Amino acid sequence: MADCSYHPGKDSVGACVSCGKMVCIACRTELQEKVYCQPCANKLFVSKSEVQPAKVEPAPVQTGVSGAWWLLVILPFFFGGWSWIGGIIAWAATKSRDPKKARSMLIWGIVLSVIAVIISIIVTILFVTGILVLEGMDLQ
Ligand SMILES: [Zn+2]
Ligand SMILES: [Zn+2]
Repeated sequence: MADCSYHPGKDSVGACVSCGKMVCIACRTELQEKVYCQPCANKLFVSKSEVQPAKVEPAPVQTGVSGAWWLLVILPFFFGGWSWIGGIIAWAATKSRDPKKARSMLIWGIVLSVIAVIISIIVTILFVTGILVLEGMDLQ
């Protein structure tokens, strides 16, 4: 058996698949079931870790926007129709990640506010009409 290219005197246990140098048990590095010498393994590891951040970074952009933002639009509807404020907050917070969803939340916020205003007008009219009717009945 030939000596390790890096440690003269030590028996080699294999050859690096990248550079062909003999490696001993101490400097043998296995990556994906292939034998590498330590310098080659380091090179591979460095180039991998250099690539990774660039690959990881776009991922959060693609994860999109949590559906929980809709609560900000819908919940204020039940508390006086302030959905347009929730819609603007949700839109401002999510527009950079998901412009489509952000816009639809803003639109729904405004729509829900308009609906809330219409409902409160109808309720007021019914209430006033009801009082007038009751008062009219009392007079008769
Ligand atoms: Zn090598
Ligand atoms: Zn060695």
